[in-house]
Amino acid sequence: MNDESTIIEIKDLSKVYSDGVEVRALDGIELNIKRGEFLSIIGPSGSGKSTLLHIIGILDTPTTGKITIDGRVITEMSEKDRSQARNEILGFIFQYHHLLPDFSALENVMMPLLIGGKSKNEAKTIAASLLNDVGLGDRMNHRPAQLSGGQAQRVAVARALANNPSIVIGDEPTGNLDTKSSDMIYELLRKLNRDKGQTFILVTHDEKMARKTDRIIRLVDGKIFEDNYFE
Ligand code: ADP
Ligand code: MG
Repeated sequence: MNDESTIIEIKDLSKVYSDGVEVRALDGIELNIKRGEFLSIIGPSGSGKSTLLHIIGILDTPTTGKITIDGRVITEMSEKDRSQARNEILGFIFQYHHLLPDFSALENVMMPLLIGGKSKNEAKTIAASLLNDVGLGDRMNHRPAQLSGGQAQRVAVARALANNPSIVIGDEPTGNLDTKSSDMIYELLRKLNRDKGQTFILVTHDEKMARKTDRIIRLVDGKIFEDNYFE
């Protein structure tokens, strides 16, 4: 690590897919992300955004290069340590909420807490408090099908935050929502970032959403084409 404030350090990272045709999805990525940043990754379709996010999320491994997250060298870990690190450090929000259809909002948010070893009562208290934070205190017992798209995505946000991750990553977290719901989700993520200081890394193809973040990393052909900070 460079210093305490760096939470993610990526050195000379490349990813080559070689099933059939060879595709260099990421090519020599160098990137440092500080604790508490609220940043977006943008770029054309196929530029490597999801691949980079999945590698940062410890869901995929690079072909070459080194990644350090929260002081741990992820690229030198066993599969078991990697999955432990993933559970401890990261929260995920995807384009489709992937909520369990037969469970209530409350139960969906409780799930990762129960898996993480919390008792049922503790899980219920934390999940209820998170649903309050995302403005769904009055929808806890609704099942996903009884919620609007924007509300369901807010449940997914609460679920991503359940184990108090230091990094939250989102791949097109508002990709299937209307503009108004998207804006609400971004405002919500921003508020959580301000209140709890968690680091947010959001992939989006929506330039307007990206401009709501503090830093935009633009990928082109698997390389960082631009890296700009905003006030
Ligand atoms: P983005 O999210 O920016 O649209 P991706 O990271 O999904 O881009 O993909 C980057 C490149 O890698 C693309 O050319 C894509 O076709 C290729 N790619 C992604 N996943 C695989 C895979 N599992 N096998 C082979 N090629 C892949
Ligand atoms: Mg993608």
